Amino acid sequence: MRIVPEAIIKDHISREDSFEAVEQVFASMAARSAYNFPVIREAIGHADALYGFKSGFDRNALNLGLKSGGYWPGNSEKGLTNHQSTVFLFDADTGKCSAIVGGNLLTALRTAAAAAVSVAHLARKDAEVLGIVGAGHQASFQLRAVAEQRDFKKVVAWNRSPEKLATLEQVARELGLPFEAVSVEDLCAQSDVIVTITSSFDAIIHSDQVRPGTHIACMGTDTKGKQEVDAALVARSSVFTDEIAQSTTIGEAQHAVAIGSLSEAAIVELGAVINGAHPGRGSADEVTLFDGTGVGLQDLAVAATVVERASKAGAAIDVDF
Ligand code: NAD
Repeated sequence: MRIVPEAIIKDHISREDSFEAVEQVFASMAARSAYNFPVIREAIGHADALYGFKSGFDRNALNLGLKSGGYWPGNSEKGLTNHQSTVFLFDADTGKCSAIVGGNLLTALRTAAAAAVSVAHLARKDAEVLGIVGAGHQASFQLRAVAEQRDFKKVVAWNRSPEKLATLEQVARELGLPFEAVSVEDLCAQSDVIVTITSSFDAIIHSDQVRPGTHIACMGTDTKGKQEVDAALVARSSVFTDEIAQSTTIGEAQHAVAIGSLSEAAIVELGAVINGAHPGRGSADEVTLFDGTGVGLQDLAVAATVVERASKAGAAIDVDF
């Protein structure tokens, strides 16, 4: 069995690797050669934490395993990231545990890769302004990954606590992009692509604020009750997702589906667009919305890449297990 500790993950996977792994697994899911098992997610009644498991099997890549972990809101005060997770991979032929991989950086990379894959396949080619809503741990990963997908000329951002936008501004500067801290209204009025990555339980963006032709990647809503955009915006958009079962229950689409303004049948898997089974964006005026709920197979895909790369480099720890 191999162990790849959190500290060396960054040396063995790039944003491009993550994009490729996530794009492939979304395609595999839509082709029904990969599937996620039901998610377990529990409020454990301690440290305000949400803890659970995401697992699945990709029959093509032979990735079998789970990500165990969750969200500890008090961690940032302890110098730790709020998300804590570990990926376990198993040999699909024998069931033996084949690898234990640090899952924190991988979670950020695979989540940002999902938004980037959605932008690559759904955003208008002439998109110029990128709007980021949220400035927590995930936000700068989102900015870096999505900024690579179009020839953006500017980044605008909003966060509930505006002083936290300094990190995003720094990243935008590194990317050579002008940065402006704006109101939500202004962000929507300027942006061609919007990424939402907050822990909000109420709509931050409302349908009447969003311009025709916008692509929105809703990445923060991954639990029942969370919400980043209003149900009217979801109902008005062409909705794409990683997995329909999650989109309607724990994703951004849960609210529109619950009030009957969006039917489950209208939601399209992003993998179908990647596979060419669905045309994706139909016109320059259409609002496309990617409901990125986060699936276990994404974690397995990036973890398998890391194990392969770290093993080749002689950096994975071998354990007789
Ligand atoms: P974080 O705790 O570092 O940051 C939270 C962000 O949400 C901050 O910008 C904060 O200002 C904002 N926020 C919190 N409550 C808000 C409210 N009521 N209104 C507006 N903004 C609010 O968290 P993070 O690691 O950056 O993760 C952000 C969100 O993304 C979390 O909800 C997390 O569960 C989710 N997430 C989703 C996936 C996925 O695959 N879809 C993966 C990882 C994280």
